[in-house]
Amino acid sequence: MAITASGCHKGELVEADILRADLEGRSLDPKRKSSYETLLHCQVYKRVPECGAIFHTHSVANTVLSRRGDKVNLAGYELLKVLEGITTHDVTVTIPVFDNDQDIARLAGTVDAAMRQGAARHGYLIRGHGLYAWGPTLASARHRVEALEFMFECEMRSA
Ligand SMILES: [Zn+2]
Repeated sequence: MAITASGCHKGELVEADILRADLEGRSLDPKRKSSYETLLHCQVYKRVPECGAIFHTHSVANTVLSRRGDKVNLAGYELLKVLEGITTHDVTVTIPVFDNDQDIARLAGTVDAAMRQGAARHGYLIRGHGLYAWGPTLASARHRVEALEFMFECEMRSA
């Protein structure tokens, strides 16, 4: 996979800030270190065979909502149709919240166990931290992240 190097400003990425790593999280360029949260990316790529790209965002809305409970329910939004397999606004999508953990391997294991049970089909939140969401292509992953972030913002403002 291609992944951002550790410590880069995500708004100012250049090609040199992207490196290659294997799906066990080992950088293929031994001089450079991949993102601290690489193992969370590896987990999704291994669990979701059609996953082609993953985005991780830190927003005010996703952070606020992640501190309110163990899940965020999104219901009645037209933008839900951006998510995989959803064809109507008349549905409720649950985005689970996992406790943050500085032991990323342990956190990846927690996420994987939940995904094996069918949770986090469209993404997940880490409490007080941010969102992980994905798609089959870079464009679809970005589209889904933007839709989720928009709905989180609506939830935050309307609560
Ligand atoms: Zn993060």
